[in-house]
Amino acid sequence: MKELIDRLVRPEIRALNAYHVPEAAGLIKLDAMENPYVWPESLKTAWLDELRDVALNRYPDPTGRALQETLREAMGIPSDMGLLLGNGSDELIQMLALTVAQAGRSILSLDPGFVMYRMIGLFAGMDYVGVPLQADDFSIDLPATLDAIERAQPALIYLAYPNNPTGNRFDADDMVRIIEAAPGLVIVDEAYSPFTDSSFLGLLGDWPNLLVMRTVSKMGLAGLRLGYLVGPPAWLNEIDKVRLPYNVNVLTQASATFALRHKSVLDEQTHAIRVERAHLFESLTRIETLHPYPSEANFILVRVPDGQANSLFARLKARGILIKNLHGAHPLLQDCLRITVGLPEENAALIDVLNARSN
Ligand SMILES: *Cc1c(COP(=O)(O)O)cnc(C)c1O
Repeated sequence: MKELIDRLVRPEIRALNAYHVPEAAGLIKLDAMENPYVWPESLKTAWLDELRDVALNRYPDPTGRALQETLREAMGIPSDMGLLLGNGSDELIQMLALTVAQAGRSILSLDPGFVMYRMIGLFAGMDYVGVPLQADDFSIDLPATLDAIERAQPALIYLAYPNNPTGNRFDADDMVRIIEAAPGLVIVDEAYSPFTDSSFLGLLGDWPNLLVMRTVSKMGLAGLRLGYLVGPPAWLNEIDKVRLPYNVNVLTQASATFALRHKSVLDEQTHAIRVERAHLFESLTRIETLHPYPSEANFILVRVPDGQANSLFARLKARGILIKNLHGAHPLLQDCLRITVGLPEENAALIDVLNARSN
């Protein structure tokens, strides 16, 4: 069998490890950019009432029409723009790659960034060009980026706004320069839109090659798996052709429609996360040995003293707190940890452990 596997499986797939999600049972979970708040009981009851009438025996509405209408309303999507739903924005990234992939074509993004751009590009047989961000503040190195675009002529460019795992929001003028220089599509990935006041949604239509991608995951619905792509209808009509039928299931359609009709609850939660982010940043700044980076997302990247990332990560885990260790993930992330903003008491528990360490 091994001989057959070696012969049959594409070498670039053989070289991979499957996406690893660490076991988190019993731990304070500050590793995955989830919203830590739950719904009030009355809202849960109203949601379950609605689910009672969902027809599990029937295929879902193929394009999720009711959900699309609710999303348009809730998110202020321009009425002249098209909307495409995905099973998480990860599936939209896959659909984009499948739409344009050809031998020799590439995807370009800025590193350190969201790893799925590169991974999914590789699945689709596309090359990946990662342009390093500036070392001091993770801003865009514009000359290097424009140069890489000129050389690689990428079919797709991804700009995460704000960026993961660094948390900063790129300069909008730099982004415009990239959009104008790009020979292909530019996808502005606004996964963290609930945690910033800035967006490219209102600029859609200004350039023929601009799309905006979002997700409901980080605002508090990560379990539903729902992402959405917004842009000129002519583009979305093409990308829609590679979508698998019924990619968004009935439970997700019904639950997301319900949740977005009660968006004020989610808004209050994401607002509380923004307030907590400021408190957490303050507390981290007060620990002299740590360097937290400013964030417009629901997590904070922290640089720890030389060679201490692994031991700090392990110490936190031993004390029941799971964060993300990014040491080794990219040269610019040496000695870096990423902490998702949790409940006030969870953040306090984290700060306690970090304080004990520094004394
Ligand atoms: C979390 C994240 C996503 C993935 O979102 P899903 O909708 O949960 O697949 C996309 N882009 C960035 C930058 C992210 O951090």
